Amino acid sequence: MTKKGKQVSRRDFFKLTGATGIGCILGSMENTARAAGASATGSSGLSTVPTRPFGKTGVNVSILSLGGTYNLKSRQLLLRQALKMGVTYWDTAHSYSGGNSERGIGEYFARYPEDRQKVFLVTKSGASDPDGLSRHLYSSLERMHTDYVDLFFIHAVSAVDDDVNTPEIKKWAEGAKAEGKIRFFGFSTHKNMAQCLMDGARLGWIDGIMASYNYRLMGTPAMQQAADACKKAGIGLTAMKTQATWLSNFYSDVGKGTETASQLTEQFVARGYTPEQAKLKAVWENADIASICSAMPNLTYLQANVAAALDKTRLSAEDHRILNQYARETASGYCAGCARLCESAMAENMPVSDVMRYLMYYHNYGRQQQAIRKFNNIPATYRQRLASMDYSEAERICPQNIPIASFMQHAVESFSDKGRG
Ligand code: SF4
Repeated sequence: MTKKGKQVSRRDFFKLTGATGIGCILGSMENTARAAGASATGSSGLSTVPTRPFGKTGVNVSILSLGGTYNLKSRQLLLRQALKMGVTYWDTAHSYSGGNSERGIGEYFARYPEDRQKVFLVTKSGASDPDGLSRHLYSSLERMHTDYVDLFFIHAVSAVDDDVNTPEIKKWAEGAKAEGKIRFFGFSTHKNMAQCLMDGARLGWIDGIMASYNYRLMGTPAMQQAADACKKAGIGLTAMKTQATWLSNFYSDVGKGTETASQLTEQFVARGYTPEQAKLKAVWENADIASICSAMPNLTYLQANVAAALDKTRLSAEDHRILNQYARETASGYCAGCARLCESAMAENMPVSDVMRYLMYYHNYGRQQQAIRKFNNIPATYRQRLASMDYSEAERICPQNIPIASFMQHAVESFSDKGRG
């Protein structure tokens, strides 16, 4: 197969994505793959998503990972088609969808046991001690009808020395590998990401990390240094939250941000892809990111993301300029997860960045129940004072200039009465 033959032509890619965005993508999955060229790397003879090395593990993973935050019991066709399209990296967690994400994967492997070997399977545990990790791991294996997972993460780490770097956890990871229950070990982080990546890189026993990483964050010196450190340490990196969605309903200068958002759409549609696809492409341009984990609730999202993964066109200087302009103009509606800054500026350690994330789940991801549940899991002593704290110093040092007090007030009003019961 020639190099040319593996590429998606601009015309074909435009046909796939259409002129009106992700929701209007036309054509079957077969058309998607055919339009990408006939590289015929999949067992079905259709083009498949490219792969990249995952750190120094010796494993190549698909550059697009199926984020399984949903109930996958009712999404068996999505799993089947993802695999056919080469999305062989599947991400789940013990907690996702009350266990129905893992159970859905289990139902799939029970039906198609031969597919287990094709999947790079990742799950996560929020436990903080070896007994809890073992309990979750064995439960995950049973739910997913498998004897092992390829990568096991400690979930949502915010400080590596507190959450990961203990002799007990290191010993546990080594033991689980020796037993053949996990192949690789690491953690996920969406809070203090740059510091967590740096700290993970120095440990020497972390195989993979999944971190919030997107066009807003990836150009900052701290994130660049952290990604470099992981590369040197041979850690496989997976990017998540790559859309970096903007909480526009609270943005103080909505008119300006909306105007740039329209320009963003016009610019990318003229180039043949949607802003959502462009944001994925921006992350893939860093070859040190092995994969992007994307929550894909249906075949439309899967097709759009696969089309973006198959397309080889690089973003232009103008594409980058307008993305950066959009990031700047909407910064005060996006929390960068640098919790150490704002939370240490408070008289009490209020969970500001967690609450910001729950607002994003609620308003941007359509995961209202999850947001409400998580908010109401915050100890009552914090929740009750969340709206009345003095955030002036935290707002002063917030690099995104977020009106933190307004956001906290809104979260209390939105979530407090709904999550009980
Ligand atoms: S509110 Fe500001 S300082 Fe706090 S985590 Fe978000 S971006 Fe960082």
